[in-house]
Amino acid sequence: MTWRQWLDQASSRLTTSPSPRRDAEILLEQVVGIGRTHLLAFGETLLDEAHRTQLEDLLERRARGEPIAYITGEWEFWSLPLRVSTETLIPRPDTECLVELALDLLLPTKAEVLDLGTGTGAITLALASERPIWRLTGVDIHPGVVALAYDNAVRIGVKNVYFLCGSWFQPLQWQATRYSLIVSNPPYIDANDPHLNHGDVYFEPKSALVADNHGIADIAAICNAAGRYLQYSGWLILEHGWQQGAEVRRLLTQAGFVHITTIRDYGNNERVSLGQWFY
Ligand code: GLN
Repeated sequence: MTWRQWLDQASSRLTTSPSPRRDAEILLEQVVGIGRTHLLAFGETLLDEAHRTQLEDLLERRARGEPIAYITGEWEFWSLPLRVSTETLIPRPDTECLVELALDLLLPTKAEVLDLGTGTGAITLALASERPIWRLTGVDIHPGVVALAYDNAVRIGVKNVYFLCGSWFQPLQWQATRYSLIVSNPPYIDANDPHLNHGDVYFEPKSALVADNHGIADIAAICNAAGRYLQYSGWLILEHGWQQGAEVRRLLTQAGFVHITTIRDYGNNERVSLGQWFY
């Protein structure tokens, strides 16, 4: 059987995937150890037996719904190859809107940036790679996740990032740093949201997705505490649910932020809100 024939047969088995052909290609690329161009140019190459057995197992996992990122252990964000694990969310393209927004702010040249709930380190590493002179700190509550984010930083080769383990601001309580920017993509989904039982999301860690009080509890906690850690004229940027824009703007206002704005994601939904701190 040739690579191309395997792709035809494999994609026809991935009936529940939104992208069966691409999924099959990614699995083949991973097992054979080649890139996409090579795969497409040499589609008539014969697939060897050992690879075929290995692929059978991966294909079966994908057919049962496991996200392709968890099967291969990696996912791209901001053109950076990131290791992912079942302890982390799989970085979403929409989160790149948050990164773009952060890069567009007028921040001090040597900005101090804090990323709460960093996960794979996606946001921190994207910002670190774009602004080598900024200093970034990523915080995550899970030690295994902090280790993964650190590993991603080493692989990418950025030198301006630090990681701390703890819940939101807790590991920063005793230090004096004030940040020019705090960013977060916290959990914001309601525990009863049916969306949690479908597709990739079903396999992702609930601790990274679900928050109390209709999904708003962690966002509220961050809004209320952020001022203590921000410099004068510093910014807070939060990703949130598409129906949470008004509530997040209200929380930012209540906490004392000004210049509050919400921007929309690639699907034209309210997704990221920000506010500035003048105390
Ligand atoms: N945007 C993700 C989703 O709706 C959720 C990410 C999050 O909770 N931070 O699947």
